[in-house]
Amino acid sequence: MSNSPAQISKAKDMNYARFLTAVSAARRASPIRAMIISLAGGAPNPDTFPFKSASVALNDGTSIDIGETLMKKALQYSATPGVPELVSWLKDLQKQLHNPPTLTYSPDKGQMAMCVTTGSQEGLSKVFEMLVNPGDNVLIDTPTYSGTLAAVKPLGCNLIGVPTDQHGIVPQALKEILSRWKPEDVSVPEKKSPKILYTIPNGGNPTGASLTTERKIEIYKIAQEYDLIIVEDDPYYFLQFNKPWAPSFLSMDVDGRVIRADSMSKILSSGLRIGYLTGPKPLIDRIILHMQASTLHTSAFTQVMILQLLQKWGVEGFLEHIESVIQFYRSQKDAMLASADKWLTGLAEWHSPTAGMFLWLKIHGVQDTHQMIMLKAISKEVLLVPGSAFNIDSSEPSSYVRASFSLSTPEQIDQGLERLASLIVEEIK
Ligand code: PMP
Repeated sequence: MSNSPAQISKAKDMNYARFLTAVSAARRASPIRAMIISLAGGAPNPDTFPFKSASVALNDGTSIDIGETLMKKALQYSATPGVPELVSWLKDLQKQLHNPPTLTYSPDKGQMAMCVTTGSQEGLSKVFEMLVNPGDNVLIDTPTYSGTLAAVKPLGCNLIGVPTDQHGIVPQALKEILSRWKPEDVSVPEKKSPKILYTIPNGGNPTGASLTTERKIEIYKIAQEYDLIIVEDDPYYFLQFNKPWAPSFLSMDVDGRVIRADSMSKILSSGLRIGYLTGPKPLIDRIILHMQASTLHTSAFTQVMILQLLQKWGVEGFLEHIESVIQFYRSQKDAMLASADKWLTGLAEWHSPTAGMFLWLKIHGVQDTHQMIMLKAISKEVLLVPGSAFNIDSSEPSSYVRASFSLSTPEQIDQGLERLASLIVEEIK
């Protein structure tokens, strides 16, 4: 749909080796996984398995059927990057949605490559393990998704929080942080200039914030100046409320410096665990080597089930489904905003989220919401999480609360925010 904006021109060729941890650089292809003929691969005989076929009923009254031959494939080991037909379907989707400039590059120059992961969380944690050494400086949206913090913090790096507002990362703040280094420090490892920038560009978890096109262009240019890999964690891409959707970092990636994590969790199923990484081949290949030593591949049955659905729908049907999911979240968001106006005016402030499933509330007169939420609000609803859970240092106080509008009915949302209002009044009296 979109392509690299005219304002961005290609920097010099990427040196991908610069970004790898020693562990990642040491990974080698499994000689057995590389073999195509499965006689040598230790594959069991699926005729001995108890499962025969499957039929999954869909909400629209139709079904997807996994017949005996396909079932054998679904029960067998498969290729590490994903069931080939699914990878190919997803590649077409990425072309259609993002049209990355790297599509036409040669493999060693950062050609777009993909792999299916067990949810985007698996992909992201492997991306961090590939790129982050102990002692590295890592740039990260603040506040941010607690699952990301759980994946990066144990790597022993120094997380540098990049301030955000309702439009995501503030480019000026990013520039200020990076002004501690000179662009030429990039070639001096001891200077430890940051090598990666992690961001949630749409419907941020927890803030609900989305980066604008202008900001993305500015941030991409900063990444070029300081030779940063951008880790674009975008599980709420398909939950953007307003059209046209902002172009992704992937769509403007003239250099091959973006690794994008997509997820089916918010649109098809979170339990099936399907995500996919898209990025320059030299880096995606390293992730695949890591998978060869861990999961081998995402569940083939899950992949086949998703593939059958996507092939039945086609891209058009898939996007139609997404439209219905967006409609649901949009009306949930509107219900939450109406209840927030009704109960929280004067007690809290917020911005209307442009994507995703969260409203980020700044509570007036409450220094730290942790006690209030954990001790008093936990009673019935899973609606609220204290803001400190999304701080790099979760012991730091936060006057924010994350309210989710995904699971509750508008009535429950209304009751939840009424109860929050009374808790705030109790707390500040
Ligand atoms: N990134 C963000 C920002 C998320 O909010 C989530 C899910 N809550 C994930 C990644 C992981 O999603 P999954 O592994 O289910 O694709």
